[in-house]
Amino acid sequence: MVITMNKVRGILIGRMQPIHYGHIQVIKKILDEVDEIIIGIGSAQLSHELKDPFTAGERIVMITQALVEHDINPSRYYIIPMEDINFNAIWVAHVKMMTPPFSVVYSGNPLVKQLFAEEGFKVKNPPLYDRLHLSGSEVRRRMLEGENWKELVSNSTISVMEEINGVERLKNLSLKEISDL
Ligand code: NAD
Repeated sequence: MVITMNKVRGILIGRMQPIHYGHIQVIKKILDEVDEIIIGIGSAQLSHELKDPFTAGERIVMITQALVEHDINPSRYYIIPMEDINFNAIWVAHVKMMTPPFSVVYSGNPLVKQLFAEEGFKVKNPPLYDRLHLSGSEVRRRMLEGENWKELVSNSTISVMEEINGVERLKNLSLKEISDL
């Protein structure tokens, strides 16, 4: 007789603009606790903005290559782009529609935690690793200021950034947004 066990799946939703070492560490930590992780790319519809410069497709490449670089088994994760919707009250249903079934939600974002808790999900607050430096906004700030952003991200992320001229894009976006004022 073959006994099949239900897999425990957790979900982490983040904009990952771009993925950095904090995300990598938290993904590893979550994989210590669950069989599979769903990595939801939040605000998938956004790109070419100072806070959200990279497309969902570019973020998929960055995330996939970073997970390969960090030897994370590809059979243990799903990467799913998720567009925002205007209605917070039905966002959880929207997320559920787009993802494999999951039972645990990992987030440090108060709104995300609130919405999933109200729908009866188990919500966990994963540890933050060096949040002062490991944040997407700090990576983007350093790119704009010409400071060392590369120490905050994986080598593969640096390569993708070069491939898509990501730093140049961000700098052009900052000029555009100033001229729009
Ligand atoms: P984010 O990339 O800032 O963070 C995602 C997660 O990564 C965090 O919750 C945290 O757990 C982890 N993380 C980040 N830095 C870390 C570090 N240094 N150490 C450890 N962990 C770290 O993304 P976010 O802004 O929280 O993403 C939420 C997404 O959900 C957004 O895209 C938002 O628009 C979307 N959302 C949409 C709706 C709607 O459409 N109605 C409602 C709620 C949320």
